[in-house]
Parts: sequence; structure tokens; C-alpha cells
Amino acid sequence: MYKFGTRAIHAGQEPDPSTGAIMTPIYQTSTYVQESPGKHKGYAYARGKNPTRVALEKCIASLENAKHGLCFSSGQGAEDAIIKLCRPGDEVIATDDLYGGSYRMFTKVFEHFGIKFHFVNMNNASDISKHINAKTKMIWVETPTNPLMRIIDIKACAEIAKKNNLILVVDNTFASPYLQNPLDLGASIVLHSVTKYINGHSDVVMGATCTNDDKIQEELAFIANSCGATPGPQDSFLALRGVKTLHVRMDRHCSNGKAVANYLRSHPKVDAVHWPGFTDHPSHAIAKSQMRDFGGMISFTLKGNSMEEAFRMAAATKVFSLAESLGGVESLIGHPASMTHASIPKELREKSGVLDSLLRLSVGIEDESDLIEDLRQAIG
Ligand SMILES: *Cc1c(COP(=O)(O)O)cnc(C)c1O
Repeated sequence: MYKFGTRAIHAGQEPDPSTGAIMTPIYQTSTYVQESPGKHKGYAYARGKNPTRVALEKCIASLENAKHGLCFSSGQGAEDAIIKLCRPGDEVIATDDLYGGSYRMFTKVFEHFGIKFHFVNMNNASDISKHINAKTKMIWVETPTNPLMRIIDIKACAEIAKKNNLILVVDNTFASPYLQNPLDLGASIVLHSVTKYINGHSDVVMGATCTNDDKIQEELAFIANSCGATPGPQDSFLALRGVKTLHVRMDRHCSNGKAVANYLRSHPKVDAVHWPGFTDHPSHAIAKSQMRDFGGMISFTLKGNSMEEAFRMAAATKVFSLAESLGGVESLIGHPASMTHASIPKELREKSGVLDSLLRLSVGIEDESDLIEDLRQAIG
């Protein structure tokens, strides 16, 4: 099998048979002509299948070492399809510092349909077992977590899932397939917000699932086509273009991330720095065993823990833009307590470690010295 970078550029893609075009065309069509009723070339209606999307699905699946890939119109669309594998009465055990949008969908949408969610601290994977009962259907893991960069042991979760015949879902958005391949560690489904690192250019919203399980794939594809959260050909083309440089971008995200993490740690006004690459990160050993490198996502607090100071700093950066999202070529800064985690009561939020002065960085691929100089002038 070809190595990662070669697959990122070529997997799922053949020169267009009619013209030889090296890039997969944007098949801007809603339907396909049939020779006789039901007799077609595998494509009938574009909600279900589109050749530009199929090329992208094959490429992402290849990068996750997966048999199957499916794309959705957003990461949330992919999550919605995965939860629809459950039936009323089923229970899901999810990590307690979950992406805010996932938490919102689970509690505000799917609880109304009779699905029960347990939010569990998974620092110790064995704690999951305490919440398993006859109704448990799924374990939902995200690692590294947002915004505190905690690491969950995927292999240990997979052993628990296997022993209890549960579906293990891993949201691999933060690591990207370049740094971590959960299916190889025993996960049943890997999920991506393609919006982030895979597309990488902050110009597309998209999601994806990958699996080696034929039955799960068949069900997810049925749900995708039935419920309709499938992406169009233009966005599929942009993501197909973006993913070609994933390996090159990730190397720079990782090296810039390391430099920024080390700089922040040495700064007298900075308190804690959360980044799994530090040898004294509480789960560094697990990170090292399941990730190839440590990525460009970092969060940190300021000494004195002042929200005003954090606000001032977030507004003072010039290269880092104050914005939601992550994983693009441009560096972003965010203030979780007032942005992504604003709906969580202060006490609960602080208990989970999201302090008033916590700032989150998505370190981009600009020049390292410019990023550090920007943080230096902003911290003051
Ligand atoms: C952004 C994100 C999502 C949701 O993806 P969208 O493409 O925004 O719908 C899910 N999980 C994680 C970890 C994310 O960062």
C-alpha cells in the first residue's frame, strides 16, 4: 500500500475517463440518465451518490485505513446519522468534555427520542464499565478533547466495547487521520468534521464517517440517503483539493504547535499550558502511543485568572484571528468560557477546568517566529 502522502493526493481518484482531466471534475448534476428503468452506471440521484463525493469518500477512507467512507454536509450531519443507529431506549456513554455541538444535539434533540446519554470522565477508561448495562449501545470518544487537550486511551475503550458488544465511535477531528487512526486501535466508527484539518482552508463545512464494518456502512449510507445530510459536488471538490496537502500542513501545524507551546510555557504571565506533547502532560504516554505527533491545538490560562486580561489578549493578537473553528491554515484564538462553553454554568465549567482566563489556540501554518512575536506583543 502507498504511504500517507501519496494516498492523500491519489486515493479514490483516476484521471477523468472522457477527457483525461487529472482533477476529478465537479459533477454538478442532480440526476443521471438511465438506459432502461433501474439500469444505470451506479448513479441514479445525487442525494444518494455523486462521483465527486465518491472520490473524496474513497480518499478519506484510505487515509483512515478504512474499508468504507461516507461524507455528510457537516460534522454534525455525520453525528446525527451515527446516533440514528440507536433505537429508543438505547443508551450512549460519551466523554464528559465533548464538543459543545455534540453535547447540544445529544441532550436537546436525541433525548426527546428516548435515547439516554451518560457523560463520563474517561481519563481512566475502566470507569466506562461502571455505566454499562443491558441497554448500552454505544461509547462515544473524542481525543484530544476540547479545549483542555485531555487524551483518552482508544485501545482501552475498544477492549471494553468489544467485550460488551458495543459500537465505539471516535471523533478524530482534532488529530486528523495524519496523527491518529482509531480504526486501527479497535474503534468501530471514526468521525470527522472535515471542516477542520481535512479540508484545512476554512472554506467548507463538511463531515465524514469511516468504518470497516459492512453492516454499519450499509446502515449509515441508508440513513444518509434517507435523511439527506449529504454534501454537494462543489464542496466535495474543495475538500478533495484541501485533503491533498493534509500531510504537509499537519507537519507544520505540529512544529509550530510545539514552538508555541514551549514559548507559552516559558512566559512569566502564563499559568498552565495544555498540550499533549509535554512529557509531563498527565496522558503523554497514551498520546505518544496512539498519536504520531501532538498537533497544533493548545490551550492555556493566565496567572491571576482574569477574564478581562484574557479578553484583552484575545483582541490584541494580529496574526491570530479571534474566531470559532480550528484546523485551517490560518491561526485562530478563542475564549472558550465566553464562546464555545458559554452555555455551561460557571461552576460546572470551572469544575471541568474551563477557567475564565483559558484561551484556545489553533496554531496555523504561518511562520513560527511571526506567531511567537504576535503572542509576545499580545500578552504584553
Ligand atoms: C467542529 C467539530 C464538530 C462539528 O463539525 P461541523 O462540521 O462544524 O458540523 C464535531 N466535533 C468536533 C471535535 C469539532 O471540532
